[in-house]
Amino acid sequence: MTEPAIAVENLVKKYGETPALQGISFQVYPGEVFGYLGPNGAGKTTTIRILAGLSSPTSGSCRVLGQTTFKNPALYRHLGVVFEESHLYDRLSGIENLRFFAALHGVPTARIQELLQTYDLAKAAKRPVRTYSKGMKRRLLICRALLHDPEVLIMDEPTSGLDPTSAAVIHAAIDHYRGQGKTIFLSTHDMTEAETLCDRVAFLNQGKIAALDHPKALMRRYGQPVVVVQLRPFNETSEIEQIKLLNGAVSLNQVAWEDDLLTIRLPLEQGDLGAQLDELRSFGEILTIHTQEATLGQVFREVTGTKLE
Ligand code: ATP
Repeated sequence: MTEPAIAVENLVKKYGETPALQGISFQVYPGEVFGYLGPNGAGKTTTIRILAGLSSPTSGSCRVLGQTTFKNPALYRHLGVVFEESHLYDRLSGIENLRFFAALHGVPTARIQELLQTYDLAKAAKRPVRTYSKGMKRRLLICRALLHDPEVLIMDEPTSGLDPTSAAVIHAAIDHYRGQGKTIFLSTHDMTEAETLCDRVAFLNQGKIAALDHPKALMRRYGQPVVVVQLRPFNETSEIEQIKLLNGAVSLNQVAWEDDLLTIRLPLEQGDLGAQLDELRSFGEILTIHTQEATLGQVFREVTGTKLE
């Protein structure tokens, strides 16, 4: 059987008395994109800092390519890390930043040119990084992480705050990299991104793994397809409260005002849908009805007991 590229076993991290990680275990295999999801403060960055060798575990073990990570320079040759916050020299140009890191890793300059071309930074290469947009900085960070062609790439929210076009460039990079049989550990708050990109995902909650599987398997287990009904109420006052009571089938977070219309989500496999729709017709005019598959966002709410912002 293939050896895992990342193997985490009973990992515990405490900051003083604060338990940030409470005994987590998982493996990531070569050629896999592994999504690491969870609410703010769940312990994702703490895990990433340990994976990247920047922080030591309180107990348990963390191995990348069979080696312990903390203060292990031999490993850095095989590891690329993209942090959420910018770790670039703002006053240097893009190409100077890459030259600096290339020198550390003994990377030939031809590789810098290749990456600048691939990530559409060739024209701006000589401009100081402080003049770059957020998307450009993020692409430069990816170039930097890929300079030495690492076997394992660790990314902490690489698309946060980016527009869809900039995010798509990063998604393509992840896909391309996976295609080369490499390993990607991806922390993200974007459930759609996780659903489309990740082979498996782990949900972290309060320092523990709350669920870990293929996105589709988790959606089958925790999610539920729904029928989404948009309704213009006859009488706008207190309708929402009454609808919430409808057959007891509509739970509190499934009725909401959206664009001046009431949107009601009815679980597809629960109750008599026809009767529920008839009842809704007595509240107002139904404008649209469509079905919606289970989503990873539902899984997130279910396994972490929180709502997405
Ligand atoms: P976010 O999604 O907001 O980035 P996260 O999942 O990355 O959150 P962490 O930053 O790993 O979460 O934090 C996990 C817990 O550890 C939180 O309770 C946090 O307050 C705490 N923590 C993190 N770093 C430190 C530190 N240096 N000292 C004390 N507590 C810390």
